[in-house]
Amino acid sequence: MIEIQQALDLIESQCVTMQADCLGLTQLPGHVLADSIESDVDSPPFDKSMMDGFALQAADVLAGNPRLQVLAQVQAGAQFSGQVNSGQAVQIMTGAPVPQGADTVVMVEQTSHTEDQVEIQATVKAGQNILCRGTAMRAGQTIMSAGDYVRAEDVGLLAEAGAASAKIIPRPGLAVIATGDELVPVESSPTGSQIRNSNGPMIACLAKPYCKSVRDLGVGPDRAETLAEVVTAGLESDILVLSGGVSAGVADLVPAVLQQVGVKQIFHKVKIKPGKPVWFGVYESGEKKRTLVFGLPGNPVSSMVCFRVFVLPALLRMAGRDGNSAYASGKLSTEFKQRPGRTTYWPSRVTQSETGCLLEPLDWKGSADLRTLAQANCYAVFTGERAQFEPGETLPFLHIH
Ligand code: AMP
Ligand code: MG
Repeated sequence: MIEIQQALDLIESQCVTMQADCLGLTQLPGHVLADSIESDVDSPPFDKSMMDGFALQAADVLAGNPRLQVLAQVQAGAQFSGQVNSGQAVQIMTGAPVPQGADTVVMVEQTSHTEDQVEIQATVKAGQNILCRGTAMRAGQTIMSAGDYVRAEDVGLLAEAGAASAKIIPRPGLAVIATGDELVPVESSPTGSQIRNSNGPMIACLAKPYCKSVRDLGVGPDRAETLAEVVTAGLESDILVLSGGVSAGVADLVPAVLQQVGVKQIFHKVKIKPGKPVWFGVYESGEKKRTLVFGLPGNPVSSMVCFRVFVLPALLRMAGRDGNSAYASGKLSTEFKQRPGRTTYWPSRVTQSETGCLLEPLDWKGSADLRTLAQANCYAVFTGERAQFEPGETLPFLHIH
């Protein structure tokens, strides 16, 4: 049985970044750029008024001549082609180009005006309320770099810069198979020894924001031949996630079936609780195709913990992102005891207190207890090196978003 960090290192060593692809502007958020992006315009493209007001020469007002002749009105999208000379002003709207000759904009609230006369009623400073051409960026300048993660906020800048499309690292495609003869789909009423398939939909939903596509292949049976067929279909994705069938029961056929169809085992069993029997391997077919395969333990909370801890970092890395899990830290609210050996991810509630995050481990009944998981907003992480933890101790935790 290996340590969590060893398992993460082994997974990282098998992750290959996806081949770059081109996407349209509004498809870019959620992806990492494969190339840098340059602006094709100056921003702003002209000296621009930042206020509704009057464009004028500051020297007039500073010399004690606050009454000016109004030559014209100019609004955003228009342009005054004349010249503003001493004693003159142009009424200007936010976003309009500042006319030739003017060096200052005074906001309309600081004036008194008629159609052809304006009196400035405040002191002025040359350059005020004008954003000069190219202040934010120059044509040809790099505005985002290869490796940058695109967010909705960045789309505005990219639109301004003329990036109608860009090269990105795609997210991987994932397939999920729940294994177990006892499983029926959510639409069915279980009878006898049957239960509903919780893991398939749960894993598919957790994976979705990190994947280009998610294929839920439903339930695979605890029969080697049929399971091999479903697995073969799953291997067409970049990542295949199975749940169930990786422990020590007589029906736990997943490791054997995976190896039989040509998936090479990298590890089996990690010092994590819940989730000890987690299995990881790689499938490489003749061509360039490569699939990472995760066998997660069937108990639903084990599946989720292992997905967050082991599968998510791989999804992120393949999409060109940093795959290190974002652990936060908080103070334990009560004493906590465990059998040392494996690091425990315990469903907990984190609240914000004046002194920082407070972690309350919930009354969780173990890896089949989804009811308590639904009350949790994080997993508190208790290192396997110790048996006892005191109130007030600082611990890492993983948010459940
Ligand atoms: P296994 O890892 O296959 O030995 O399964 C461990 C436990 O998790 C058993 O009680 C299974 O019935 C249960 N289980 C396995 N797969 C699922 C699933 N997809 N949804 C809900 N429970 C499951
Ligand atoms: Mg099973």
